[in-house]
Amino acid sequence: MKVLKFGGTSVGTVESINAVLAIVKKSFEAGEKPLVVLSAMSGVTNLLTTMAENAAARVPFENDLKFLEERHFEVVKKLIAVKYQNPVFTKLKLMLNELEEILQGVSALKELSAQSKDLIVSFGERLSNYMVSKVMEQYVEQASYLDASHYIKTDSNFGNAHVNEEITQQLIQSLGHTHSDKLLFVTGFIGSNEKGRVTTLGRGGSDYTAAIFGAVLDVTAIEIWTDVNGMLTADPRIVKKAFSQPVLSYTEAMELSYFGAKVIYPPTMIPAFLKKIPIVIRNTFEPDFTGTVIQFESGKSAYPIKGISSISDISVINLSGSGMIGKSGFSGRLFTLLAREQINVVLITQSSSEHSITFAVHPDDAKKAVSLIQTEFELELEANKLLTPSVEDNLSVLAIVGENMKRTPGMSGRLFYALGRNGINVRAIAQGSSELNISVIIGKENLEKALNAVHDAFFAQLKKTLNVFNVGTGNIGSTLFRQILEQHDFLVENNDIEIKVAGIANSRKMLFNADGIDLKTWDAQLDADGEVADLAAFIDRMKAMNLPNCVFIDNTASKLPSTYYEDVFKANISIVTCNKIANSGEYAQYALLRDTARKHGVDFFYETNVGAGLPIVRVLKDLMLSGDRIVKIEAILSGTISYIFNNFVGDASFYETVKNAQALGYTEPDPRDDLGGVDFMRKMLILARDAGHQLEPSAVDLGAILPETCLAATSVDDFYAELLKADHYFNALKEQAASENKVIRYIGKLEDGQVSIALEMVGENHPFYALSGSDNIISFTTERYKERPLVVKGPGAGAEVTAAGVFADLVNVGA
Ligand code: ADP
Ligand code: ASP
Ligand code: MG
Repeated sequence: MKVLKFGGTSVGTVESINAVLAIVKKSFEAGEKPLVVLSAMSGVTNLLTTMAENAAARVPFENDLKFLEERHFEVVKKLIAVKYQNPVFTKLKLMLNELEEILQGVSALKELSAQSKDLIVSFGERLSNYMVSKVMEQYVEQASYLDASHYIKTDSNFGNAHVNEEITQQLIQSLGHTHSDKLLFVTGFIGSNEKGRVTTLGRGGSDYTAAIFGAVLDVTAIEIWTDVNGMLTADPRIVKKAFSQPVLSYTEAMELSYFGAKVIYPPTMIPAFLKKIPIVIRNTFEPDFTGTVIQFESGKSAYPIKGISSISDISVINLSGSGMIGKSGFSGRLFTLLAREQINVVLITQSSSEHSITFAVHPDDAKKAVSLIQTEFELELEANKLLTPSVEDNLSVLAIVGENMKRTPGMSGRLFYALGRNGINVRAIAQGSSELNISVIIGKENLEKALNAVHDAFFAQLKKTLNVFNVGTGNIGSTLFRQILEQHDFLVENNDIEIKVAGIANSRKMLFNADGIDLKTWDAQLDADGEVADLAAFIDRMKAMNLPNCVFIDNTASKLPSTYYEDVFKANISIVTCNKIANSGEYAQYALLRDTARKHGVDFFYETNVGAGLPIVRVLKDLMLSGDRIVKIEAILSGTISYIFNNFVGDASFYETVKNAQALGYTEPDPRDDLGGVDFMRKMLILARDAGHQLEPSAVDLGAILPETCLAATSVDDFYAELLKADHYFNALKEQAASENKVIRYIGKLEDGQVSIALEMVGENHPFYALSGSDNIISFTTERYKERPLVVKGPGAGAEVTAAGVFADLVNVGA
């Protein structure tokens, strides 16, 4: 024999009821002798609660009653043959009339007792079970309706009644004899007290009903059919990547559900546990999926935890004072008091000095708890041995659960790292002595982000999602989007990284989408749906969206974004940038940014500041980290200048070479922006700083390429006129180089903490002699690379390689 329980969504519509019928029929035909427990149709318990409250407040409830009737009648019309419909309508109508009379009574008295409320909500289960049993009767004549309130006996704690096991057991056992040939449809959720008044077992209590019947009847399995594929690693409404766990132990399921996993009602586990009956959670809408088995053994698992659950609304009460020290009876008195008054304490933590106790309760209970404490501990409070209890609201509890945790060290470290990295402050921590669960209290506003971040941290074999906010959609930005799009599947498959671009802005417009902007059409969307750009608003929105593993990418060449970097780090958001401005301004700013990023545990990557996609910043960092000492750095870091000097050979004049380079797009609109060396200076400065030198930009000895007259020109045309006049100067340089068998190079150097950049002539033996095209080259002479320096060489400019460098930085965030 089996118990099959179907929840509200499974009996919510005509289609879902059809799915239920198919499952029950199959089980019946397979000889499993199922006993079926149904909830009320989805939404009906809530609606009945509202109607009851409305009646007491004299708010009309008639329309709701009509709606309730229509929902049930529709099922009858669609699923029961016309000739059988009338008696079913009549019986449903009788029940609804009874309900109406009760509501009218409540309305007349203007008072809703807990007892009346239970009676009113019990109609949900009674209507649905009667109705579905009648639908089933057409196919299985043994189908029969059973009102469980006659079988489950409880105390009079209306709304959350406790079951009297002994009497209940006797009553249900008798059923086994009288109804053994029936296919019973049993109302979930409801019972009755010793006077026969209807009670309810707590919201979600139909699961419990199933377990109570299952345990007494000694069934082989209690199947809980719902609308998801079993018990998932987290609430799927919040964590999109949550997946179904094939096996959980009773205690694991209990902990997860106690801490908010709504899919099963916590008390359900107890009767099943005592009789060692497996509970199987299955999906009515995917009946072939095996779901989750809850059993004695927790089973092997690849992951250290089984799931993450949460309670979104919690209040925390702090008690502190010297009066608690060494008073062993104190917490006993406190928690006995709360238990006596039916205040459920969700979580307790106590500092090891016993100087304070923090505990979490449902927000509705917080006031009451404080006033109880004030009465109970009046003397201690008066004597200042206890400070007035303080209450904190708007908090949530997040719990990680799993029996494997006991055997795996470092679980709390992993949890706190994931939270810390995402800027989520932990207010209190509790670890059960069973080590089955670690719970933390956090701000409610961070719950969604925390659940996702923690899920990523513990189910790491699954892909990590990076949420990107990108400013700048020029060459580099748009190339990056294309590369992300092209690499998407590869990254997901091979690196388990999913990149979502959640925000895009340029100087005109900005666009957001927490689910990820479609990168095939980002530009059209930005045009059509973008809001007017405003960088401050963009940053604010990025923070407000509060997404986990968030990265801000600055693909602009402007100073403005860099003024927000500090602020961005403080929001625990990593930064990837190809923009050099932040790193090459005042040293204090450079230091501050690193400090802030470190404090907040986020990344600051800017590989493309030097040599575009070439690994230069990273190589330097690795050398430093591994304890090597930099003796000297020599570099050519301007692709433009390289190109110009590589082509300034033979008969070409310097003037023509520069003109050509500009025509081919190798220079800035004003070639002096390249030839002036400022950009090169910035790169050298960043390298020197990364190598540990506290240098200001003014300390760089920047040797000129151009004569004064060219630099002083007031326009680009003027500049070219002056450059033409300076031909003899450059020709002399060229001739000298040729006569010495050398080439002209503009080389940056870091040595003895000094940075200089100057025109030099180098011979065949110099590693920079053979540089061609617009390549960059850098050589690191270090303690380890002394004889033969470590050289990195390659294309140091261009949208494709720069975007690829930004992309590589992005993928490394959080690695
Ligand atoms: P039923 O109406 O079948 O009793 P419930 O609404 O009570 O169903 O519970 C199922 C819902 O629980 C799912 O639709 C899901 O949104 C939610 N849920 C929350 N946490 C979890 C979890 N860890 N695993 C599965 N479902 C969960
Ligand atoms: N119908 C009840 C509720 O909504 C019981 C249940 O569905 O389990 O809480
Ligand atoms: Mg439920």
